[in-house]
Amino acid sequence: MQFKIAVVPGDGIGPDVTREAIKVMNRIGKVYGHTFEFQTVLAGGAAIDTYDECLPQNTIDVCKASDAVLLGAVGGPKWDALPGNQRPEAALLGLRKSLGLYANIRPAMVFEQLASASPLKPEIIGSGLDIVIVRELTGGIYFGERGEKETELGHAAYDVECYSVGEIRRIAKIAFEMAMKRKKKVASIDKSNVLLSSRLWRKTVTEVAEDYPEVELKHFYVDNASMQLIRDPNQFDVICTTNMFGDILSDEASQITGSIGMLPSASLSDGSFGMYEPVHGSAPDIAGKNLANPIATILSVSMMLRDSFNLVKESKAIENAVSRFLEEGYRTGDIARGEAKKITGTVETGDLITSFIE
Ligand code: NAD
Repeated sequence: MQFKIAVVPGDGIGPDVTREAIKVMNRIGKVYGHTFEFQTVLAGGAAIDTYDECLPQNTIDVCKASDAVLLGAVGGPKWDALPGNQRPEAALLGLRKSLGLYANIRPAMVFEQLASASPLKPEIIGSGLDIVIVRELTGGIYFGERGEKETELGHAAYDVECYSVGEIRRIAKIAFEMAMKRKKKVASIDKSNVLLSSRLWRKTVTEVAEDYPEVELKHFYVDNASMQLIRDPNQFDVICTTNMFGDILSDEASQITGSIGMLPSASLSDGSFGMYEPVHGSAPDIAGKNLANPIATILSVSMMLRDSFNLVKESKAIENAVSRFLEEGYRTGDIARGEAKKITGTVETGDLITSFIE
């Protein structure tokens, strides 16, 4: 099969890690008989330096004409003094909006070999962790009506949480579809004991569940969910939630894994199109020094193969190659934790994982 991929390396370690992920994809292409055609475009600080804007129209056009987007990371101290809407990070919101990416998928995984990196006790984390958070990305309070007004107690400001049935249905469907490929459990997170919008959320998710009789649906209030994630994270499989609750819970879940350099993510729209990127930022402190862990980006590519291209075997081959890398005792600096392991740089890590693809 043939696929067109727009590559947005971005800033800092973005180019370092996307380069290694492309290496892995090319190897997958060779072994499994696919052609991946890459077109590199600029966004973030790199685009500001070249075009004087963080998200040129050409970048959007190339992304739209592709089957999927691979993004590194954007931002860095060089551009920190710019006003908010001109900063590199504004390119991310612009891309999500113009590409209609309404579902953010963040797995929180702990590979068995790295279980000791989790800040949770071994008896809680067990032999690993494998949760996926499905967060609504283009609605809710971050995009609702907002304003300021005068009240008896002085000046006030407000942001409105508003969800339509259509918005809830489409994100819930993504969560249930994902659960069907996993352990068939969905936890829907809301605050329906207080919020009217959450009551609509709960009712709509319950209706969508009727189309997935094999999937077990449980509802949690967000305050309870944040406790349960620490108390017993392995009770979760797929977590489905709103924009703001997802923002907070996905950061909490990523900390449970203890290694930000290992976490991939995807932002999906209708159909199979998606943008895939590591959870970490541009890490300017280690950019270009062959120190960045490329595994989060390599695992993002594994998600791309499975979720956008339906190449399940190929996706698994990448996960297995990462597992073998860890099994054989290789570690990038960020996950070595003082253990006597074979420390690898960015390039060597990419080369080894590429060589383990079979
Ligand atoms: P960061 O994730 O870039 O770095 C946090 C720490 O983790 C640093 O010590 C860094 O060296 C380390 N780290 C991150 N990724 C690593 C990897 N792959 N391998 C080894 N170590 C790694 O977060 P930050 O320092 O808060 O932000 C730096 C810049 O990145 C800022 O400009 C921020 O706005 C931007 N940022 C971009 C994105 C994105 O593009 N999606 C996300 C978060 C932050």
